[in-house]
Amino acid sequence: MDLIHLRNSLPQDVKVLAVSKGQPSSQIRELVSQGQIDFGESRLQEALPKLNELEDLNQIRWHFIGSLQTNKVRQVVKAFEVIHSIDSIKLAKRVSRIAGEEGKRPKLMAQVKLREDPQKFGFDSESLLKGWDEILQLSDVDVIGLMTIAPISLDMDERRTLFKECRLLADKLQLKDCSMGMTGDWEQAVEAGATWIRLGTLLFRP
Ligand SMILES: *Cc1c(COP(=O)(O)O)cnc(C)c1O
Repeated sequence: MDLIHLRNSLPQDVKVLAVSKGQPSSQIRELVSQGQIDFGESRLQEALPKLNELEDLNQIRWHFIGSLQTNKVRQVVKAFEVIHSIDSIKLAKRVSRIAGEEGKRPKLMAQVKLREDPQKFGFDSESLLKGWDEILQLSDVDVIGLMTIAPISLDMDERRTLFKECRLLADKLQLKDCSMGMTGDWEQAVEAGATWIRLGTLLFRP
C-alpha cells in the first residue's frame, strides 16, 4: 500500500512504524524518501549492519520490537530510541541501568500478553500492575506505553476486543501510547485506540 495515502487516512495521533526486518537497506532508503522516519527491527544481529549502512540518514528513529535477550541490552540501548518489547521487570531494570551508564534515555513500552499465546512473550496484566511502581521508579528510561501482539488464532472481532483491553490498561496506567496492530489487523487496532501501528508486509510488498 502507498505509504503517503495510508498516513493521510489515519487519525492524527496514530503513527506508522515501518517494520523493516527482512528488508535490505535500499528498501528502507526508499521509504525514508517518502518521509518515513520510524523503523522497527526485531533482531539485533540483522539490524546492526543496516543501521551502519544507513548512518547518513540521521533522521531515522530506530525502534526495537523483538524479544530482547539480556546480553544484547547494551547494544540495543546504544542504537535504538524506543524499545517496544519490555517483557519483565528485570529487563526494564537492566535497560535503565545500562542506559544510565551509556548516557542514554530510551523510551520503553511494556509488552503485554492479554491472551494465552505460547509463541509470545509479555506481562500478564496482573504482574504488570504488581510491578508497576518499580517500573515507574526507573531513573534512566521513559515508560511511554504498552505493546501487544494478537495471537494468530483470533478473529477480527476478538482482535478488536483485545486491542480495546490493551487501550484500557494503558489508560489506567496513564500511558499515552499503545503499539498494536500489524498488516492483518491494523484497522481494528486503530479503531481501538492504537497510537503506533507496526507494518511490515503491507508497506514493503512490491
Ligand atoms: C514482523 C512484525 C511486525 C510486522 O508484521 P506484518 O504482518 O508484516 O505487518 C509487527 N510487529 C512485530 C513485533 C513483528 O515482529
